[in-house]
Amino acid sequence: NLSDRLQDVFKKLKGKGKLTESDIKEAMREVRIALLEADVNFQVVKDFINKVREKSVGQEILQSLTPGQQVIKIVRDELQELMGGTKSELVFKKTPGVVMLVGLQGAGKTTMAAKLALRYKKKNKKPLLVAADIYRPAAIKQLQVLGEQLGVEVFTMGDKNSPVDICKLGLEHAKKNGYDLVIFDTAGRLHIDERLMDELEGIVKVANPDEILLVVDAMTGQDAVNVAKSFNEKLDITGVILTKLDGDTRGGAALSIKAVTGKPIKLVGIGEKIEDLDVFHPDRMASRILGMGDVLTLIEKAEAAIDLEKAKDLQKKLQTQQFTLDDFVEQLQQIKQMGPLDQILGMLPGMGGGKLKGLSVDNKELVKIEAIISSMTKGERANPSIINGSRRKRIAAGSGTKIQDVNRLLKQFEQMQKMMKQFSSLEKSMKKGKKPF
Ligand code: GDP
Ligand code: MG
Repeated sequence: NLSDRLQDVFKKLKGKGKLTESDIKEAMREVRIALLEADVNFQVVKDFINKVREKSVGQEILQSLTPGQQVIKIVRDELQELMGGTKSELVFKKTPGVVMLVGLQGAGKTTMAAKLALRYKKKNKKPLLVAADIYRPAAIKQLQVLGEQLGVEVFTMGDKNSPVDICKLGLEHAKKNGYDLVIFDTAGRLHIDERLMDELEGIVKVANPDEILLVVDAMTGQDAVNVAKSFNEKLDITGVILTKLDGDTRGGAALSIKAVTGKPIKLVGIGEKIEDLDVFHPDRMASRILGMGDVLTLIEKAEAAIDLEKAKDLQKKLQTQQFTLDDFVEQLQQIKQMGPLDQILGMLPGMGGGKLKGLSVDNKELVKIEAIISSMTKGERANPSIINGSRRKRIAAGSGTKIQDVNRLLKQFEQMQKMMKQFSSLEKSMKKGKKPF
């Protein structure tokens, strides 16, 4: 499995304080083999490795990441880029919008037609499904059953008319009856053949679809990429839908399709149920392939906001129980730069965001907190446990706040102390090589 292979490679890198060129060379050799074994297209792998190697060797040293972490980050960023960088939506230029689903038999077209109808119905659209697979005996029935389940109309003309005519009349029907989205469920073959392609071209001509989406089965790996190449050459598709991503796929198809066809993966099928549809997120897929959840995102955020020296200093203070209210203010400022706390904690494995709900840091809050802390004596700041009732009253008066504000601040400080301890024990377990690092 690609994730396991890559994680093994990175485990070796992570522990290293300094990376030599030969470390990187060895790592890249292993990444290359892992990608090839996952059925990623040969040329794609070659280009990919070259890019990563270039960036890894010539990189600027970031203080807060170890060299190993930096290589991991480069690999992740390049994987994301390889899959198109950012997500791409379906685009409808006219009303009704027209989606044509094409692909080999069993790829998941009919299922996807229903999934799309549901998705747009939920967005208050009125979709029409058009049954244009006249070759498989049960194909029309299959779509009708799904349509009934969804409460979406299915346009059929049996199997006596040509698929081109069915699509043409289906579109006219939609225009006359106020549908704003038309979805063509076309026939597939076991293999690509000329007759099928000609027929699909005929449909494109009469219906001029906004989206021609090729449905491919992620489980078929490199075959999916070859199929995508042929369909794109013939039909100039607008995007790809990768189905059966819920299975144990090797990831190769997702990685090669964009590079080979130039067309993005737009949607993914993640199960047999009609709700099992998702937008394709290159960033999430890259992390999934690397098997690292969102921890890498955390690395990026931390890298942007926290100075390593300060962090080390802080950790030392925590270990010696010297984390003071002055440090607290400084931390709040840094955390403010990183984004909402809930979100950051949610990214850490084993730490729900919920625990620190009360601790949002906006600017006004921060000014107040600073005022309160500056009204404390040095002794109080260093050792908040001495701040009793009468001291609280004095501090509130001195800072122009209420006693409740002082109470809340001290409570938050306590929570922050706890959180910092969790951070440092988490870091220790990461260093020991436990999952996810
Ligand atoms: P078509 O021949 O391209 O129309 O393919 P179908 O829509 O009939 O699907 C073929 C089979 O794949 C059916 O058994 C579906 O239930 C199954 N299938 C479709 N999409 C998915 C998916 O995303 N995940 C899983 N696990 N199965 C799927
Ligand atoms: Mg079908």
